[in-house]
Amino acid sequence: MSARTISAPILPVLKPSQIRVNESYDTWLCRRCFKPIALAVHAPSGDPADIPDGVVQIRCPHCGELAQYAVRARRVRQYLGAEQYLLISPLTESGELTNSQREGK
Ligand SMILES: [Zn+2]
Repeated sequence: MSARTISAPILPVLKPSQIRVNESYDTWLCRRCFKPIALAVHAPSGDPADIPDGVVQIRCPHCGELAQYAVRARRVRQYLGAEQYLLISPLTESGELTNSQREGK
């Protein structure tokens, strides 16, 4: 009886107080409270989350829920302040709750 339920790596996330306005972050939407969870490192390459079909674990800094997320569900969002995010990479394959805003600079 092997309890091999969870093997996905837990990724470090930012606390809401560490998120800066106008910075862009890799984010997932929390399954429980639906707030964006910002990843601590915006790694351009070589990060463990860089597997298209991979699964990672993230603990929501808002509600504390630890859940698994598909890596491909990751989206880049720019923080606008006051808990508002702008979705920058709208290459979605459905599933995102956000209305896709795309703005040029
Ligand atoms: Zn949450």
